[in-house]
Amino acid sequence: MCQPVAVFLLFVHLVFFVPETIASPCPNQFIISVLFADEQAAAVICEASAHALTILAQYGLSPKRQICVEVIDQEIDHLGYKAFGSYDSKRDRIRVMSYQSIFYHYTNPTMYDEQFDVIHYSGVIVHEITHAVFHHHSTADAPGPAPQEYLAHAIQLLSLPEDRRNRVITTHNEPGWMPGDAISDIYLALEPGRFAVKSYKHLTSMDDPRNFIDLLLTAKWFYIYVP
Ligand SMILES: [Zn+2]
Repeated sequence: MCQPVAVFLLFVHLVFFVPETIASPCPNQFIISVLFADEQAAAVICEASAHALTILAQYGLSPKRQICVEVIDQEIDHLGYKAFGSYDSKRDRIRVMSYQSIFYHYTNPTMYDEQFDVIHYSGVIVHEITHAVFHHHSTADAPGPAPQEYLAHAIQLLSLPEDRRNRVITTHNEPGWMPGDAISDIYLALEPGRFAVKSYKHLTSMDDPRNFIDLLLTAKWFYIYVP
């Protein structure tokens, strides 16, 4: 093989294959692997991911393939919004800002109008794991934002310790989604805390939530109407 070709192939190999091999699988959940995190950060991510998978399993949702969580120190611009994490369905990969970088890039970062802290950081991980698992089960080619954000925010709130969840609910005093309501990403963009509380209350009040989750998983539109 001539040298330029060999060098090019080595480059291609390094770009596409090496990052996967240095991602370390979570000791408590081999289906999750973490990339570019120190031991302490990886432990936090693995624990939050395992917590997410436990909650999702209660709704009959488990990951169908490996989920890679890549930790970065840059800001994330997700669909025009500043986010602490995002899920790229094409690469089947989650990117989350490192805990330190969130405080480096933002003065007084918040989540649901509360001061951002380690508990909310775990919530961000849970949120993104839910997006990944949602995509593993969705039958839509390109699921719209509202159905998956409903589930991601509901599970994020579910994952918080009870006292913290109750605080968010008290601050955003809203009833759950009602029949006929349109769950929309516009409402989410304007009122993320209220969107989360409405979704959490709706999901946890249903006798058979899986029926509604199946509706979310087959939804093809930006909005979803509550039956
Ligand atoms: Zn989301």
